[in-house]
Amino acid sequence: MSTTLVEGVVESSTAVCDHSHTKKKILPSEIGTDYSFKRKIVWKNVFAFVVLHLGALYGLYLGFFEAKWLTIVFVWFLIFATGEGITAGAHRLYSHKSYKATLPLRVVLLILQTIAGQNCMYIWARDHRQHHKYSDTDADPHNANRGFFFSHMGWLMSKKHPMVIAKGKTIDMSDLEADALVMFQKKYYNPLYFFLALVFPVYLPVYLWNETAWTALFTCYFLRYVALLHITWTVNSIAHYYGTKPFDMNIVAVESKIVSLWAGGEGWHNYHHTFPWDYKASEFAAPLNATTTLIDIMAYFGLAYDMREASISMIQKRIKRTGDGSHAIYGSKKVDDNHNNEMTKMQ
Ligand SMILES: [Zn+2]
Ligand SMILES: [Zn+2]
Repeated sequence: MSTTLVEGVVESSTAVCDHSHTKKKILPSEIGTDYSFKRKIVWKNVFAFVVLHLGALYGLYLGFFEAKWLTIVFVWFLIFATGEGITAGAHRLYSHKSYKATLPLRVVLLILQTIAGQNCMYIWARDHRQHHKYSDTDADPHNANRGFFFSHMGWLMSKKHPMVIAKGKTIDMSDLEADALVMFQKKYYNPLYFFLALVFPVYLPVYLWNETAWTALFTCYFLRYVALLHITWTVNSIAHYYGTKPFDMNIVAVESKIVSLWAGGEGWHNYHHTFPWDYKASEFAAPLNATTTLIDIMAYFGLAYDMREASISMIQKRIKRTGDGSHAIYGSKKVDDNHNNEMTKMQ
């Protein structure tokens, strides 16, 4: 059995998952990627995704040639708003606890996340915490070492690796188990999904601006649902493949401007895997981090508070210690040059 050590995984992830900052390294014998493992395809999921994608393609056609302009605006609005249910809600609030939110904001984020339809908050957060704790190993649900397609969407059409099942049981979810709203959504997820993700977005355009139910179904359900799925999935695929590693070159996650553009700032993924508890998930705010700007606006109105951030000195030290030298300002080459200049002056 061949295994690959992915260093730095535990160090960068436990800071979020259990806040312990333990610098324990995973041993190769303990966990890695077994490339000889043969995945089993779950055909009913393949069928469901084929149906969803055919529906989305037809929705795209209707969007161009049949839909009313208000329906198009509504589709774009839904993609953005429910995307924030994922990024500001499922990701930065519920998975990483990088800030706190008042009850009204939590209710809104839970509703938006339900409309997004990417499984209940509890399972979304558990899978994501597991992704950070065991990044790109066999225990990572979307292990990028298994290929681009697998990390993008193949993992949802494959039987879980036994290590994903085993380690999934060890993820601490006590905070969400104590959250009545999250557990309510988990218990009633199927009916909630049916009414919020399917009936509501289809009914509204029919009722408010006389869109046909047919066009509303394929644009406001199939198209906007599949579009957001792919936007979200690129964080696990593109942002684990194509980009630089200015903060930690020992991990697989990279910085991706393009993913940040369409995924509300979630593509600064090398930073995010290095400082997962930072509410900004990057060094930047708008325009390439819509979610951070949104959380800042929520904080202005008192709806979000206690945002956690990495300090500049902490970031600088980390860049110097583990970065690949590509950071625009503090790249290791520049830090070393400055350091050398300082040394020259002292001599
Ligand atoms: Zn990741
Ligand atoms: Zn994360």
